Amino acid sequence: MATVTDGDVAVAPLTIESVTTAPIPRPEATVPVVTDLPQMIVLGLLHLVALFALLPWCFSWTGVGVAVVGHFLFGMLGITIGYHRLLTHRGFVCPVWFEQLLAILGMCTLQGSPARWVAIHRLHHRESDSQPDPHSPLAGFFWGHTGWLLVRHRNFARTASYERLVRDLLRHRFYRELERHDTWFFVYLAHAVALVALGGAIGWWTGGAGEALRLAVSMAVWGVALRTVVVLHGTWAVNSLSHTWGYRNYTTTDNSRNNWLVALLAHGEGWHNNHHADQRAAAHGHRWWELDMSWWVIRGLEATGFVTAVVRPRAWNPVARPVTGPGAMPDAVDGDDAGE
Ligand SMILES: [Zn+2]
Ligand SMILES: [Zn+2]
Repeated sequence: MATVTDGDVAVAPLTIESVTTAPIPRPEATVPVVTDLPQMIVLGLLHLVALFALLPWCFSWTGVGVAVVGHFLFGMLGITIGYHRLLTHRGFVCPVWFEQLLAILGMCTLQGSPARWVAIHRLHHRESDSQPDPHSPLAGFFWGHTGWLLVRHRNFARTASYERLVRDLLRHRFYRELERHDTWFFVYLAHAVALVALGGAIGWWTGGAGEALRLAVSMAVWGVALRTVVVLHGTWAVNSLSHTWGYRNYTTTDNSRNNWLVALLAHGEGWHNNHHADQRAAAHGHRWWELDMSWWVIRGLEATGFVTAVVRPRAWNPVARPVTGPGAMPDAVDGDDAGE
């Protein structure tokens, strides 16, 4: 197959092959279906509170500003850079305290503990768009987007059942502790309370009790609920839209796609076919016009020397890093047993 070039950079073997899009059954580990009621209630309430953004009384520029900053801080630094490109794929190296800070930011998006998120995502890569994939849209578009979160998945119900996928993380006490007693959820609650209190304090300072109440509510609606919902749907869209619609630069065994909308909504994660083809690469946009904000941040941190060993796409320099296969995972995944 011919290699095409983008400028003077070899970017990919372009393919127009049709991948299989035949429906697949839901994962066996979710059958028989047991509804995850707590998850359903929390997500339902969150969406309900987010709808209050339609009320003019709940609007404030403070709330909107915190929502926008939060989308980058928690959605990009926490999830796309932290949970995904660092913890799951080890696309770069950084100081431990910074890695843990990114993990804490990730928990403020209501997407679960770092170890569980990483385990689910590594299984997704290993079994993409085949029956054990936890969230393939080939089992139903809504299933791939949100439905899989609303039912119990036996393999992710207890830490012990997914430990083998995240041994590299669970050998650190920090990640083990977050698994206990749903600690990650209390981190989410704590950040929400802090932001609401911040809104109340700003309101009190600028306009007294009435304004304190209004800004506290505005912060809860815009800065917490709506922002969380937008980040959640951005992440979910990677699983659903980017496995359904878009173009493909690479031949992969799954149905992954490069999707512009998802790339904008999820800070570059929409270049998902690129990512499936080269999972460890810290850059998901492989052509110059495939905008990837998460990569810009990683590249900036690398320029300051703060992060190192940044893994670049093989397509940018095929000689530098040998092809290790589409199922390649960080070396540590199948490492020694957890223990510190
Ligand atoms: Zn995928
Ligand atoms: Zn990935």
